[in-house]
Amino acid sequence: MMPTLQPATQPASFRLIGEHGIKLAKYSYRLFDTLVIPNEDKASRVRLYALGTAAHALRDAGALFNKVTTDEAELNKLESCLELYYNLHCLFLPESGNLTVWTMAKAIPYYARKLYDEYGAGYGVVSMQEKEAKNATIKSDLKLTNRSKEEGELNKFHQIFHMEYMRAFWLEEHSPSPSRYNPHFNCRVPSHVGTPGYCDCGREIGEEQLAVEDPELQVTLCSFCVGALEVVACAREGELTPDMACLLSTAKVSINPLKGVLEI
Ligand SMILES: [Zn+2]
Ligand SMILES: [Zn+2]
Repeated sequence: MMPTLQPATQPASFRLIGEHGIKLAKYSYRLFDTLVIPNEDKASRVRLYALGTAAHALRDAGALFNKVTTDEAELNKLESCLELYYNLHCLFLPESGNLTVWTMAKAIPYYARKLYDEYGAGYGVVSMQEKEAKNATIKSDLKLTNRSKEEGELNKFHQIFHMEYMRAFWLEEHSPSPSRYNPHFNCRVPSHVGTPGYCDCGREIGEEQLAVEDPELQVTLCSFCVGALEVVACAREGELTPDMACLLSTAKVSINPLKGVLEI
């Protein structure tokens, strides 16, 4: 999708879908790194930490709720990522809270759990992938039905979904040939995450980390994530520490990095 440029008083509006959305999720840390301003005031930096961490939490959540099979541990992780994402918005970025944020943070984990509890499936089964191709197939299937509007098994939709079921599941399950199912799942987490020297967010753990006193943090977190620790702690607790509240309330200059405009 092409980004639309708008006057500076309006927040920029982007709509990235599919592959582009996944790439943004995967490499958003690079975007946030470009927004770092030298000698930035503390409140702006705090908001950048909140935004960067929210994007990381959303990436981790996306990697989980797009799975077709899942388990209890993954569901718990999904809930915890999305709670962090939601609280970061509420506490640090209230003006960017909207219906989409609420849907991601509240509706998705609710339905993910419901799908798992009732059907043992991951939320990825409701993927909209290939929806146009699916619609076209269903439309052509309609020609094969008797188009009955009666209730019950004669109904055209009953016949269509019966065909769908046969083709998508029954034949696959009962076929002697190996499954041709090929998952659309595309991992949102960069492949280098998990290798030594890289933080979970995707950034390299740099030499400046040696200045961090806690030896465990030195090897597991990058400087951005170390900087964001207090922000994350507030979001996990669901409230600002007195220091943080004071810092944010006395901030005279604030920056909304997505706008790229200083608001004084
Ligand atoms: Zn992570
Ligand atoms: Zn990091």
